[in-house]
Amino acid sequence: MDTHSVIGRFAPTPSGSMHLGNILCALISYWSAKSVGGKFLIRIEDLDSARCPRSAGEEILNTLERLGLESDGEIVWQSERTEAYKAAENILRERAELYPCFCTRAELHASHAPRLEDGGVIYDGKCRMLDDKLIAELRGVRVPCVRIAVPDIDISFTDGAVGEQTQNLKNECGDFIIKRSDGVYAYQLAVVADDGASGVTQVVRGSDLLTSTPRQIYLQRLLGLKQPDYYHIPLVCAASGRKLGKSYGDSAQKMLNEFPPEYIIGALAYAAGMTDRIKERSATELTADFDWKKIRKDRISLPSELCD
Ligand code: GLU
Repeated sequence: MDTHSVIGRFAPTPSGSMHLGNILCALISYWSAKSVGGKFLIRIEDLDSARCPRSAGEEILNTLERLGLESDGEIVWQSERTEAYKAAENILRERAELYPCFCTRAELHASHAPRLEDGGVIYDGKCRMLDDKLIAELRGVRVPCVRIAVPDIDISFTDGAVGEQTQNLKNECGDFIIKRSDGVYAYQLAVVADDGASGVTQVVRGSDLLTSTPRQIYLQRLLGLKQPDYYHIPLVCAASGRKLGKSYGDSAQKMLNEFPPEYIIGALAYAAGMTDRIKERSATELTADFDWKKIRKDRISLPSELCD
């Protein structure tokens, strides 16, 4: 790999305040790219504008700036990229089978369909069987979402942090949504289109998205985009072991009002396994200490003074 052309990114969803787990993800994305002379980009994933006001995106950018994390390129706002997603949808229509699905979320959850790890269901392809006449009738009753039919293939990749991964698309994922019934493009499509357009070569994110990766690789292949390297980092917990949430008590903004940014950065680097003690350092100063081999793979617990 030509490490000098590494392009990493941090892509938060502004549906609430960031917590320290999000900040650690941003820092690791930054260090992973910068430590090999690469670039670091920021993208605001405000696809769902009803849940993600512009002000929440601005707040995230402000928090990142206070931590010394700035984008090496223009900030991408997904709410401004609908045309690009439409273009990607049109390409997919030529290269795969996209079909309208009229099943509601309530119907799917009431069914006995097996569940995905992210809470969704493995869709059984019911609406793929509908004929044109029935589709026309149903369109009069309900606006459908758009699904992509997936083949019975295994998608494998080597995650830089957690190793070999394989998922059978048909059995472990099912036909997935490309565009929601309210017209908002799905995260899976947007993330692939955006990473492709920005030339992203390295994706660092929380392990909650590990099982989304095969879907994204499938879309990259159809769209003729290069597959980035993936690194999924463990979720960050409070010292007590509880999961962090986007609620006020875990807000990174609140922490930044109580502690200097250098302390937070030093404490996160220590919690992640990068250093052997907490020392106040800036993000740039710590770049040289970064090594994927040092990053914990199981669980990252925050020191109790930051989060109990
Ligand atoms: N926007 C996603 C989140 O905040 C991350 C997407 C990604 O990194 O691919 O969880």
